[in-house]
Amino acid sequence: MGKTLEFNKGTICVQGGYKPKSGEPRILPIYQSTTYKYDDPDEVADLFDLKSEGHMYSRISNPTIQAFEEKVRELEGGIGAVAVSAGQAATALAILNICKNGEHIIAASTLYGGTFSLLSTTLKKFGIDVTFVHPDSKEEEILNCFKESTKAIFGETIGNPGLNILDFEKFSKIAKKKSVPFIVDNTIATPYLCNPLCYGANIVIHSTTKYIDGHATSIGGIIVDGGNFNWENGKYPEFTNPDPSYHGIQYVKTFKNAAYIVKARVQLLRDLGACSSPFNAFLFNLGLETLHLRMDRHSYNALKLAEFLEGHEKVNWVSYPLLKSHKSYNLANKYLPKGASGILTFGIKGGVEAGKQFIRNLKLAALVVHLGDARTSVLHPASTTHRQLNSEEQLASGVTKDLIRVSVGIEDIKDIINDFKQALEKLD
Ligand SMILES: *Cc1c(COP(=O)(O)O)cnc(C)c1O
Repeated sequence: MGKTLEFNKGTICVQGGYKPKSGEPRILPIYQSTTYKYDDPDEVADLFDLKSEGHMYSRISNPTIQAFEEKVRELEGGIGAVAVSAGQAATALAILNICKNGEHIIAASTLYGGTFSLLSTTLKKFGIDVTFVHPDSKEEEILNCFKESTKAIFGETIGNPGLNILDFEKFSKIAKKKSVPFIVDNTIATPYLCNPLCYGANIVIHSTTKYIDGHATSIGGIIVDGGNFNWENGKYPEFTNPDPSYHGIQYVKTFKNAAYIVKARVQLLRDLGACSSPFNAFLFNLGLETLHLRMDRHSYNALKLAEFLEGHEKVNWVSYPLLKSHKSYNLANKYLPKGASGILTFGIKGGVEAGKQFIRNLKLAALVVHLGDARTSVLHPASTTHRQLNSEEQLASGVTKDLIRVSVGIEDIKDIINDFKQALEKLD
């Protein structure tokens, strides 16, 4: 995975990853093949021993998926990437690659509902304990949550649905102080608007289901390795001790700064099988070709809609990171200078019932459990995505009862605003 010419992001979105040679298809082919042909048994033996690089089975790697991984890697500025079956799998594997039974992680409390459940319920069953801490807490408070067994710290660039912006400087300082990797879910910001690796993150994950796909066609996730963490600091013996499942290979010794991402692929994809599909990777790659254009428009439309809602008499409050009234306004300007993506939230006077009626009144925007595609959509998290959380947990993750989440699409902003206007006016 050598570095090629340094292009700007818009060019990487269009042309990164797949590099056809003379006479090869211009467009990334879909290699819908589980398996690969070899002439010599020794070649295959070397693949199994990780002595040579090549595809052997599509659970572990595939040329279409590899091209997609390479494009995201280039966009994030990492040293390697592994595509997986869902954003949820990306989070699970990113943590399982580091943590085992009896160990602990620290996570921001303002997380996507699915991530919160994964950490608070399923990883607990694996014996991995989590302490949730509000990301706006003082450095001292977060440091106090660390234990001897703490192996990672986790946060989201743009909290979902609180829309708080992660203070990368504070979190990366804490991670460095405690010699643990800093893992960031960069789904909502996308690698076009923000690169956490430039701000001290070590591992970045995405739900590619959202803006990377961009058209709501496929579920997927990806893990990107910054190659910038020292796994030989004594806390991560799995990276330095021999792995008996690969004839005693030692990841750091053999793969140097790619140890983390190679291990995620060859151990976790091999054993847990949460792999991507070639067809989905083809669609994600196609989505990425317009990511830069879409994110500019999503961000522009979201700010315009937020400003409209802020001035409307039936609206109680509006939250969008680039509104001056938002508590993360300064952090948003620091880390998201190109735009703050397409998600905004607001509350209507009259609470839950008015909110539900408003959603029924909409004509252009649709009620869907999704975000980040071309179409404007709305959702009431307290009764849907964050339904499994109790009231206290809901509040901790930034969900109030009246909160309506909008994923602002790339339609004409005048039509979006008119739709919200008529839906608000119909309320009594
Ligand atoms: C949707 C989402 C996930 C989960 O991704 P899936 O692809 O649905 O599994 C994780 N994090 C964030 C921020 C998300 O929006």
